[in-house]
Amino acid sequence: MDFSLSEDQRAIREAVRELCARFPDAYWRALDERSEYPTDFVKALTDAGWLGALIPRRYGGSELPVADGAAILEEINASGGNAAAAHAQMYTMGTVLRHGSDSQKERYLPRIATGEVRLQAFGVTEPDAGSETTRIKTTAVKSGDRYVVNGQKVFISRAQHSDLMLLLARTTPYDDLEDKTRGLSVFIVDLRKGVESGQVEIRPLATMMNHHSTTIFLRDLEIPERDRIGEEGMGFRYIIDSWNVERILIASESIGDGRWFVERASRYATERTVFGRPIGANQGVQFPVAQAHADLQAATLLRDKAAWLFDRGEKCGAEANMAKLVASQAAWAAANACIDTHGGYGFAKDFDVERKFRETRLLMVAPISNNLVLAYVGQHVLGMPRSY
Ligand SMILES: Cc1cc2nc3c(=O)[nH]c(=O)nc-3n(C[C@H](O)[C@H](O)[C@H](O)COP(=O)(O)OP(=O)(O)OC[C@H]3O[C@@H](n4cnc5c(N)ncnc54)[C@H](O)[C@@H]3O)c2cc1C
Repeated sequence: MDFSLSEDQRAIREAVRELCARFPDAYWRALDERSEYPTDFVKALTDAGWLGALIPRRYGGSELPVADGAAILEEINASGGNAAAAHAQMYTMGTVLRHGSDSQKERYLPRIATGEVRLQAFGVTEPDAGSETTRIKTTAVKSGDRYVVNGQKVFISRAQHSDLMLLLARTTPYDDLEDKTRGLSVFIVDLRKGVESGQVEIRPLATMMNHHSTTIFLRDLEIPERDRIGEEGMGFRYIIDSWNVERILIASESIGDGRWFVERASRYATERTVFGRPIGANQGVQFPVAQAHADLQAATLLRDKAAWLFDRGEKCGAEANMAKLVASQAAWAAANACIDTHGGYGFAKDFDVERKFRETRLLMVAPISNNLVLAYVGQHVLGMPRSY
């Protein structure tokens, strides 16, 4: 087994680190305080081609493997930034790439690759359907060569900073279905046009992080049939297909956060003197940080294996889910060790620990809660009885 990074992998990490160095803690802190979107950062990422990393060359992307996409997002979070502002641009296009028609790919992917068009909103969750996706109620009713969509989505991130949204909507009533995973379809929605016509209303939804989430109301929204991806009724399958990449990338953001916490905690523990010695000399301070580092290393190996399997075209559901689980847990343990190490200063905004603490907590719940990941492992990997 070869665990070393190739020249290209080193160069990618180094280039992302250099870009991120132009956006220091103070940049992210100021945005957090004003709940502002990191427009300059996302533009810099786009201009450097990093957000088109996974798009094939024939559509203008750099066709990097998922392992490299993972490295890009990990480095962003390890630098103190937050890749959540733009990560969906990297993986949402996977649904178009894998299940879209040739004309949809030609129409959208090259413009997504250059950044001319942003596809970084994914409308799945509803007020009464989060973990249980197959219960969504937003309907898309066929009328001639278009669908008419009505419903409400909640927690939809970055919708105000995206031109397009992938939308999951119901095309067959739930009660009419024998197989409840059928009957949902995926559409590409032109958010700008929808807002202009009044068929789409986007309302900001404040959360404890600077995450740009929204509630979206869809009122008689007309979507041309040509903007349905793949077959009608197969939408749930299509979005499941993109979940493994999403899990690997989210695991990477957690690993990046965890690296940041461990680095800050060890530095502070070495510099801060209390009772005449550095606090890091106390096992009560040192061991949780060391433990977090060890856990992050283990999570990194699992993430790397998941990405390696995916890039070889092999099944990676178990590894991708477990990587997301253990990486988000390791990052959260690192966050707690870091805040404890900093004492009162861990709560002071100027130290950025509290900001990263809030940001990394989300990854245990969204885009999928760790309970649901455990259910996947218990039921699909270990074959135990289904709880739902
Ligand atoms: C900041 C933020 C951004 C988000 N961005 C998006 C987005 O861009 N697009 C989008 O579509 N959604 C988004 N979401 C929604 C997110 O995916 C959901 O919040 C998540 O899937 C959980 O759904 P829920 O909140 O409805 O919780 P529920 O499904 O109501 O679950 C509540 C709790 O019960 C637990 N639970 C439920 N069923 C079981 C079970 N069978 N076994 C064990 N535990 C169970 C869950 O794990 C969870 O802890 C975002 C959420 C947040 C907070």
